[in-house]
Amino acid sequence: MSSIYFSEEHRLFRKQVRRFVTEEVLPHGEEWEAAGSVPRTVLRKMGELGFLGIRYPEHFGGAEMDTLGTVVLAEELGRSSFGGFAVTVLVHTDMASPHLARYGTEAQLARYLPGVIRGKRICAVAVTEPDAGSDVAGIRTRAVRDGDEYVLDGSKIYITNGVRADLYFVAAKTDTEAKGSRGISMLLVEKGTPGLSVARTLEKTGWHSSDTAELVFESCRVPAANLLGEENKGFCAIMNNFQNERITLAAQAIGECDKALELTLDYVQQRQAFGAPLVRRETIRQRLALLSAKVEAARQLVYHTAWRDGNGEDCVKEVSMAKALSGELVNEVLYTCQQFHGGFGYMHGTAIERMARDARVQSIGGGTTEIMLEEVAKRLVR
Ligand SMILES: Cc1cc2nc3c(=O)[nH]c(=O)nc-3n(C[C@H](O)[C@H](O)[C@H](O)COP(=O)(O)OP(=O)(O)OC[C@H]3O[C@@H](n4cnc5c(N)ncnc54)[C@H](O)[C@@H]3O)c2cc1C
Repeated sequence: MSSIYFSEEHRLFRKQVRRFVTEEVLPHGEEWEAAGSVPRTVLRKMGELGFLGIRYPEHFGGAEMDTLGTVVLAEELGRSSFGGFAVTVLVHTDMASPHLARYGTEAQLARYLPGVIRGKRICAVAVTEPDAGSDVAGIRTRAVRDGDEYVLDGSKIYITNGVRADLYFVAAKTDTEAKGSRGISMLLVEKGTPGLSVARTLEKTGWHSSDTAELVFESCRVPAANLLGEENKGFCAIMNNFQNERITLAAQAIGECDKALELTLDYVQQRQAFGAPLVRRETIRQRLALLSAKVEAARQLVYHTAWRDGNGEDCVKEVSMAKALSGELVNEVLYTCQQFHGGFGYMHGTAIERMARDARVQSIGGGTTEIMLEEVAKRLVR
């Protein structure tokens, strides 16, 4: 599809990612779902192909593309039909590692970023806690300064890539007296740091090939040099990073909508009932037509918002709209697409059944629909 937003570089990149998905993901996705994770070798390969550092500086091995480059990557991975695979990669590229790329010192960037871009070091971001999800300011994990170290204590939950990550970007209270969102900092914690442990691997409704962990920090000593950005200013960094995370998740959801509609259109053209293919039924064709229109409208919002973000414009309202709309829409699309697959769509092993399970989290993770709508409403009422 031609679009005013994408350059030749974007189009070429889309083709490369689509080819990679066809050749390297589709034949193995089911195995990864059963194993509960994507092999490290897959991220290495994506790193070699240049897919993991598309927004990062060339001198570290990146491609210096813009926000629309992220949209291309997320849409295409979403189209793979394996949401667990898509989010494994996208957390690494667009939700966790930006904490390093945006706020890291020259020394931190030189030490860690090349390995991240090559897929040698997998990243996770650990903000959510058992008692604080939407309410980020309510986190209780503490990092108390002791000489040239911080001592971390607390726990984190629902952490994507949490089991296998090499680098964790962890939110903690460095000023425990500070109220609300103040006094939070981001720390880089390397795998194997004494005091950091994976308490549990969490089982989920969907995204089976994405590993999700509960982490525990007990007197975990982290060098003070691993502070990312300014001490006590981590809340702003988290909120800034959420913008990219939410555009990414919105684009992933649009890719999933596309794929689901494509699979369903194929199915209803083949499946016969009452002497004709299902697609001849007005109720079916019209509902698919309306869903296609909604997906097209949401897609254009995502593209335009990404374009504005790439131009440095403040678009928190539109990012929140795009995340809320796409997260709800992918559920509507998958509900209907599964419905039109009949009993077949309820069977394990079918793409549509997996995609319907995977879609559920898209209105929860990375900012729930309710929180996104509050962000929009605040800005409307003003
Ligand atoms: C599969 C998965 C992967 C995840 N990966 C990560 C990760 O890698 N790193 C990470 O840090 N986190 C991760 N998360 C956490 C995710 O971002 C949170 O689950 C999400 O932000 C919601 O927080 P919560 O689960 O605590 O729900 P809560 O905040 O307890 O919300 C419960 C319900 O109340 C609603 N609600 C809350 N506050 C309000 C309000 N003010 N107004 C109206 N309604 C409200 C919510 O919308 C929701 O419906 C992941 C979650 C999942 C499920």
